[in-house]
Amino acid sequence: MNVAEALRSIRYDLLEYIQKKVNVDFDNALQMPVHFTYKRKRHAIREIFARFRTQSARHINGYLARADDNEVYFLYFHFLGSNPKSKLNAGYWVLSFRVLDDRELMTLYREERKMLINMTLKRVVDFHGHLCPELVIGCKACEYAQKLLSENGKPEGRISVIAENSTSALDAIQVLFGATPGNQYLTIHDFGKHNYTFSVKNGQNDFRLSLKELNYADEDEYETLEEKIIRDQACLNDLVQFQGILDDRVKRLLASCPEELFTIENVRPMRQITEMPTIYLSCWGCGQQVLKSKAIEFQEKIYCIPCFQGIASRGPKQNLQ
Ligand SMILES: [Zn+2]
Ligand SMILES: [Zn+2]
Repeated sequence: MNVAEALRSIRYDLLEYIQKKVNVDFDNALQMPVHFTYKRKRHAIREIFARFRTQSARHINGYLARADDNEVYFLYFHFLGSNPKSKLNAGYWVLSFRVLDDRELMTLYREERKMLINMTLKRVVDFHGHLCPELVIGCKACEYAQKLLSENGKPEGRISVIAENSTSALDAIQVLFGATPGNQYLTIHDFGKHNYTFSVKNGQNDFRLSLKELNYADEDEYETLEEKIIRDQACLNDLVQFQGILDDRVKRLLASCPEELFTIENVRPMRQITEMPTIYLSCWGCGQQVLKSKAIEFQEKIYCIPCFQGIASRGPKQNLQ
């Protein structure tokens, strides 16, 4: 189970309520619980999914965590006494609930929690780790490109993609088109834009898809919650609500046809880059091997980028006042 699924379970109330005092070993250096005992069994905590405060003025005291039995639990420290600034806190730990696991859910709920619509999407989500709006944008861009490229019959050869961001969307492109930075069919220019240029080998018909401005009508709420999460001020409810917004966005994106999401323009055919046998040179500065295309020649010596930057910053200082 991933964080998103756990938060969805809380939203849909797919929980077993426990609400019992438990003994917890708390690691002060890591600032997290590491063990708890429940029903006479000692559980080790393997992963903290989320941490937050149950009282805004207090220290972080709530943990959504995966234990060694692979179950996800919510644990919190119940404060006694009223001095929020005190370093040593009086109180006790409460094991609040456990998220029901897949076996305990009817298929319907299981699918709802995973939000998986079809096998193609499942492949992409398995690769990426969770389902999120950016991933769906990537899927939709591929869907649109596939449709356009196969209009004149099956596209010949592999599809090359230039993506202008490095978001989750790229994982969709890698899974669906097999275009990766490693095989050089995926080039990334991270301008933080959802622009994707597609090209095929015989390609006179290269085109670029650009994401239109989407109005989700949840932007204010989204920003407020995101801000809280970034500042570590979110409570469990905020996280659940935020996941709800993301899920609604995912649903809306999935329900949109690609034409509604992207504008399309034709672009000049891009140069097909074929994977070349690579030539390495020795850097004069550090002696390490550097790819020829990334090496810099300076005063008849070859440098790697970090070494060259070192020389450049040590160079004669100009007083430009
Ligand atoms: Zn993602
Ligand atoms: Zn070097």
